[in-house]
Amino acid sequence: MNLKCFFRHKWDGCKCSNCGVTRDGAHDWSRNCEKCSKCGLARQDAHRWNGCKCNKCGKTRDDEHNWDGCKCSSCSKTRDLNHDWSSDCEKCARCGKAREASHSWDGCKCANCRKTRNIGHEWHGRKCKRCGIDRPCENCSRTTALFDYGDSIPEVTLADAQRRAYYCATCHKIFCGICIGVPRNSSGGIMMFRSLCPICNNRVSAATDADLVAMDRLRRPTS
Ligand SMILES: [Zn+2]
Ligand SMILES: [Zn+2]
Ligand SMILES: [Zn+2]
Ligand SMILES: [Zn+2]
Ligand SMILES: [Zn+2]
Ligand SMILES: [Zn+2]
Ligand SMILES: [Zn+2]
Ligand SMILES: [Zn+2]
Repeated sequence: MNLKCFFRHKWDGCKCSNCGVTRDGAHDWSRNCEKCSKCGLARQDAHRWNGCKCNKCGKTRDDEHNWDGCKCSSCSKTRDLNHDWSSDCEKCARCGKAREASHSWDGCKCANCRKTRNIGHEWHGRKCKRCGIDRPCENCSRTTALFDYGDSIPEVTLADAQRRAYYCATCHKIFCGICIGVPRNSSGGIMMFRSLCPICNNRVSAATDADLVAMDRLRRPTS
């Protein structure tokens, strides 16, 4: 015992803050109803369980969970049961569990969760009918802001021309202006385009929406 404590301890709950001596009273059960956080004294059956969680100290137990599908809404424990695949057939929206090969693909779109993939598109003009993405050039695969317009821009800059859609009436492919339009004389601001198909080398034409749709019709196998 510290001399300071000869006449009187300085109690901090169950423990003297000068000499460290303990008493059986004023324990601190706030962090754990069954173990004093100051002196370590243990007691039993003190939690006030509400399902898996103690209402008083917040401790949890692996019993009487409050299951919401695969996840306990009180303690966040998960189980391999009743997952939520509604927003992604291959990843549970609640617990993040993954599984493979579970989409029901209908072309580029899953019929169950509506996720999309970059194959099986059904092109219609400049967009995919199913998922709505922009159609890529069939030579370079660029998609961003391609096929911006038909014939309506009076003064065509190089950037405009490169965004334009072209089609080849011979092989029925659709291309961006970058693949078609190597300028032969860009110094004077005059854009001269090769206008040749990068696949079959025949002449290409600038395409309007109607031209793109017509190309799609030509390419679809007739039944
Ligand atoms: Zn104590
Ligand atoms: Zn407790
Ligand atoms: Zn729980
Ligand atoms: Zn889950
Ligand atoms: Zn799916
Ligand atoms: Zn698509
Ligand atoms: Zn291209
Ligand atoms: Zn061609």
